[in-house]
Amino acid sequence: MSVAALLTRSWRRVSGCWAPGAGIRRLSSIADPEIKVCVLGSGPAGFYTAQHLLKHHKSTVVDIYEKLPIPFGLVRFGVAPDHPEVKNVINVFTQTAHLSRCSFYGNVTVGKDVSIEELKQAYHVLVLSYGAETNRILGIPGENLPGVYSGRAFVGWYNGLPENRNLNPDLSSETAVIVGHGNVALDLARILLSPIDLLKKTDITANSLEAIENSKVKRVIIVGRRGPLQVAFTIKELREMIKLPGTRSLLDPNDFEGLRHVVKDLPRPRKRLMELLIKTALESNAGKEAEFQAAATKEWSLRFQRSPLEIIPSNDGERVGGIRLSVTKLKGSAESAVAIQTEDVEDLECGLVLSSIGYKSHPIDPSVPFDQQQGVIPNKLGRVLHAPGMYCSGWVKRGPAGVIATTMNDSFETAESVLEDVQSGILDVSALKGGYKVIEALLKQRGICPVSFSGWEKIDSSEVTKGEKVGKPREKLLTVKEMLEVANQ
Ligand code: FAD
Ligand code: NAP
Repeated sequence: MSVAALLTRSWRRVSGCWAPGAGIRRLSSIADPEIKVCVLGSGPAGFYTAQHLLKHHKSTVVDIYEKLPIPFGLVRFGVAPDHPEVKNVINVFTQTAHLSRCSFYGNVTVGKDVSIEELKQAYHVLVLSYGAETNRILGIPGENLPGVYSGRAFVGWYNGLPENRNLNPDLSSETAVIVGHGNVALDLARILLSPIDLLKKTDITANSLEAIENSKVKRVIIVGRRGPLQVAFTIKELREMIKLPGTRSLLDPNDFEGLRHVVKDLPRPRKRLMELLIKTALESNAGKEAEFQAAATKEWSLRFQRSPLEIIPSNDGERVGGIRLSVTKLKGSAESAVAIQTEDVEDLECGLVLSSIGYKSHPIDPSVPFDQQQGVIPNKLGRVLHAPGMYCSGWVKRGPAGVIATTMNDSFETAESVLEDVQSGILDVSALKGGYKVIEALLKQRGICPVSFSGWEKIDSSEVTKGEKVGKPREKLLTVKEMLEVANQ
């Protein structure tokens, strides 16, 4: 009996999500030939796709390739240091990595150390889960002035991403402007304004902790091109800003007058978010709240309907001195309203600008289709269009939006497409494939030393030990060289 015929499944979609273990009949597979799957990228998308395939098809063998010596993508390099609970997903990924049919090969950049064509020869299935590694740019004059950083680089800096370890942001001025009204913007504001004693207990890197301790920033203005009804951040992150010790929220009542009547008809999450914004902006504080506000030495605010036109240089022309914004008007309604620039401008004086307008994926190899306009690999339910045997999941599949749970759902959807194609016979898995053995020989010729999961566990334990000495969950290694040294001990 063929592998395809043995694969009997009955997945069910429940409210757009995969119900755990929903009616799946396990496959007997002892005599099956292996289906060799190669996953590119070890962030949530890579691990969740691997998990689903390994759980629901006992003949799959999954090799996860990762460009860094360490796994977990944005869970390590994106999620804010003061959100340790979010990082608990690492425990689930670790269980997957420990399965005998799963291997991790870090320090291998696909597209550079090994080509897609070589991987296609070695595996039956390729899953592209390599995320979004760059950021959108504003495309305005002055964007490259010292003192202007992408939010992505700033996040990478405080989270220990090797390429950003030397960012050394200039935090010597009192006012910072963040462009973008997403959750990354709120992460940036919170890290800039958090009391240092809170940050000291997190896994923020030692050098950024020191820089933030000496930072002069005490005012953060978060600028968005649309209005309160169109903000992209969520209520939990807003609440954290409002409750940030030592920091007052300055929301302009004029931005919220007249919105009360709209709120009642909004879908629940946005309704609750709006209610909190309106309450913060319009209701006068009394008692403990008033004391909290009065004692605050730092502040943050939201500026609406302002689109960046230009970064204004400082008087000596050496660095950022401010930002020029176009006042916008909104065309259309609710979340789909579009910001149109008007003739009116506003200048904000500041010494730091963080542009937090979203991440961006890029093509990995000319042989993989890529939609430059949308910044995604064109796909149908994770099947890469016109590329049999290739699948994609995560941010490179659907764009740089969505939390880990969203990424989990779309990764399960992709894994499901793979399993369906095996079952229907669309995916030919009859040929014997060499898998990692073939790639290992190529990497050896090229002088590349992959890091195994146990290599990562040595790095992990070294970081945790270093962290314990200073009361932190871990002290991250900051260079690939150090990571390789520890992994190869
Ligand atoms: P990634 O996590 O980016 O993983 C991609 C992986 O591919 C990386 O490890 C990368 O190194 C690797 N890779 C790239 N190129 C190659 C290559 N050529 N060869 C081999 N490997 C390669 N979600 C939450 O639920 N809670 C949060 O608190 C939260 N905070 C966030 C904070 C920030 C700053 C950001 C940007 C996102 C945050 N998210 C959060 C969203 C969450 O991180 C994403 O939904 C998720 O990480 C996307 O997963 P991914 O696997 O597609 O991409
Ligand atoms: P995002 O949610 O897409 O927000 C991007 C913001 O930038 C939007 O306000 C957008 O405004 C604005 N923007 C885009 N282009 C612009 C331009 N040219 N000029 C001015 N403004 C522009 O992206 P993100 O903040 O990078 O977050 C990415 C994903 O990660 C999101 O899904 C987020 O929820 C998730 N994340 C979650 C957490 C968490 O759960 N704690 C933390 C961080 C990130 P428009 O709406 O007008 O386009």
